[in-house]
Amino acid sequence: MTYALVLNSGSSSIKFQLLDPSADANAEPLVSGLVEQIGEPVGVIAIKIRGEKVTVEEPIPNHSVGLERSFEILHEHGVGPHDVDVSAVGHRVVHGGKVFSAPEIINDQVVEMIRDIIPLAPLHNPANVDGIEVAREMLPDIPHVAVFDTGFFADMPPAAALYAINAEVALENGIRRYGFHGTSHEFVSQQVPPLLGKDPKDVHQITLHLGNGASCAAIRGGQAVDTSMGMTPLAGLVMGTRSGDIDPGIIFHLYRTAGLSIDEIDVLLNRKSGVKGLSGVNDFRALHEMIEDGDTDAWSAYNIYIHQLRRYIGSYMIVLGHVDAITFTAGVGENAKFVREDALAGLEMYGIRIDKERNALPNDGAREISTDDSKVKVFVVPTNEELAIAQKATELSK
Ligand code: AMP
Repeated sequence: MTYALVLNSGSSSIKFQLLDPSADANAEPLVSGLVEQIGEPVGVIAIKIRGEKVTVEEPIPNHSVGLERSFEILHEHGVGPHDVDVSAVGHRVVHGGKVFSAPEIINDQVVEMIRDIIPLAPLHNPANVDGIEVAREMLPDIPHVAVFDTGFFADMPPAAALYAINAEVALENGIRRYGFHGTSHEFVSQQVPPLLGKDPKDVHQITLHLGNGASCAAIRGGQAVDTSMGMTPLAGLVMGTRSGDIDPGIIFHLYRTAGLSIDEIDVLLNRKSGVKGLSGVNDFRALHEMIEDGDTDAWSAYNIYIHQLRRYIGSYMIVLGHVDAITFTAGVGENAKFVREDALAGLEMYGIRIDKERNALPNDGAREISTDDSKVKVFVVPTNEELAIAQKATELSK
C-alpha cells in the first residue's frame, strides 16, 4: 500500500497525517499527529497510530525538531516515512496569491514564489514555508506538493473577486478577494452531485464551512463564483475568534480615537472577536450550554452569528439564481444541529425545508437533512481536507 504524508504547519504547530489517498472519506488515517507549543519551554507531540495514542512532552525549539521527533516516534512504531511506502508529501499552503490556482510540485522556485506571497498572508505563509523546507530536507527523495487554500477560488468572476477600491492601488498591492478553505469547499461540493443524482455541471450549490474559522461559497457547475472570505481569512461570516465583515471605518476609529495600534487592532479582530469576543467562549458546545443556562451574552453572540450566516445564504441564493443544494461541513456545521436548523428556519417559500429528525441524527458520513419534498436539498458532508490534499499530491506526483 502507498501512503501520502500531509503536513499543515502553523506558526507554533505542525499537524500531520499519513494516509491512504484512495481510502474512503470516513476511514481513519494510519497516523495522525499534532506537534504543539513549538518554541515554548515545553512542547507536546500527540500522535495517534492505528488508533493507539502516544504523547510526548519535551522542549521543541523549532519545526525541524518537531518533525524529526515525530518521525522518530513513528519509526519506533514501524510507520515512519521510511518504513512505509510514501509516494507524496502534500503541504497545505494558506495563500497562493495570484500565481497559484492549482496544486504545484515544489521545487526551489516554488518555495521562493510562496515566500513572495508572505506580505499577503503574514500570519500563515511563513510557517507554511518553514514546514516545506524542513520536510524537503528530511524527505528529499519524495515529491512534495503545495496545495493552496485559495486555489479553488482563483477563477472567480471579476465582479466577485474585485473590491471597489482604487484600481491602481488594488493592482499594485495584490488586493482582491482570494477566498480560503478552498480545499474543503471543493472536496465537499464534489460529493453533492452524486447525492443529487445530477451531472456536476448542472448543479448550483452553497457550501457552508463552519468550523472555528468559517466561510461559505457559491458554486455553479463545480466552479466557485463567490465566497465570503476576502484578501485575508478575516472577512465574511462571524467566526470563533474572528469578527468577519465589519465596517472598515471601525479600524480608523479604533486607531485614531481609541488609540489602538495597528497590531493591536489585528489581534483584536483576529483573536479576540467573533463568538469569543461576544460571549467569552468560541466552542459551540460551551456556547450552547451557556445559552441553556440563560446567559444573555451567549444568546446575543449566537444570534449575531446566525444572522450573518443567513445574510450570506440569502445573497448566494440570488448570486446563483437557483440553488439545488446547501451543504454544511466542518466542526460546527457537522455537529451543531441547532445552527443548521436556525440557519435555514422559515425559508419554506424558497423551497428549503429541514427535516428535524434527520437533522438530529449524529454525525456519521454524508447525509441529507432536508425533507423529501424540499426543493433545495440540504446535506451534511464531513470535510476531510487531509484526504483531499493527499489525493491532489498523489495525483500530481504520478
Ligand atoms: P473545526 O475548525 O472544523 O475543527 O471546528 C472546531 C469547532 O467545531 C469547535 O470550536 C466547536 O465550536 C465546534 N464543534 C466541534 N464539535 C462540536 C459538537 N459536538 N457540537 C457543537 N460544536 C462542535
